[in-house]
Amino acid sequence: MSRTPKLFVVSGPSGVGKGTLVSLVREQRPDLGLTVSATTRQPRPGEVDGVSYHFLTNDDFDRRVEAGEFLEWANVHGNRYGTLASEVDRNLSAGKSVILEIDVQGALNVRKVFPDAVLVFIEPPSMEVLEQRLRGRETESEESLRLRLADAAGELELAPRYDERIVNDDLERAASELLRVLETHEMN
Ligand code: ADP
Ligand code: 5GP
Repeated sequence: MSRTPKLFVVSGPSGVGKGTLVSLVREQRPDLGLTVSATTRQPRPGEVDGVSYHFLTNDDFDRRVEAGEFLEWANVHGNRYGTLASEVDRNLSAGKSVILEIDVQGALNVRKVFPDAVLVFIEPPSMEVLEQRLRGRETESEESLRLRLADAAGELELAPRYDERIVNDDLERAASELLRVLETHEMN
């Protein structure tokens, strides 16, 4: 069965379960390429530079923007985040599909550069569940949590512009749906 390597972009509000879903999918699809984004935010406990993100200073981030190294970048919840074009190119040229887990502004910008990219929006079953998940993760200060929940409303309004929408209700079910979305588009 031949598959065409594709660029998938997964977005959705903070705490909806993007990271959890994508790691489940990666277990089933170890052939997927890995990309590491750059950010100016501070590492959380346990995050490793070069693995979780490339943690950059503001000056370093500016230099890379100037040098045209980003496929896209955006201000998200008060910090800058960006996808290095080299990370995506390296994987696609090696015949590997890529999943970018990025915010909604970044996703829509990727589509402008890569019209073939498949945009997948992950939706929460409700705002209440979203808040419970974000609180349950225990990674955010109250201020950061409030900002992320306030941003979620505007992000959800952009869901209709995506190619695919998946509600992350039951984790296993949503992961199977995401796997099916990957396969369907790789066969086209
Ligand atoms: P995101 O990457 O979108 O910010 P995470 O993957 O970190 O979100 O998930 C946020 C929290 O919600 C985590 O504690 C995770 O274990 C939990 N979670 C994710 N998906 C589900 C689900 N389907 N049901 C219940 N809890 C979930
Ligand atoms: P976190 O701080 O929780 O790791 O990520 C916050 C937000 O930044 C998430 O919505 C995540 O998808 C987004 N993000 C992570 N990497 C990138 C990136 O490279 N580009 C853009 N535009 N957003 C990103």
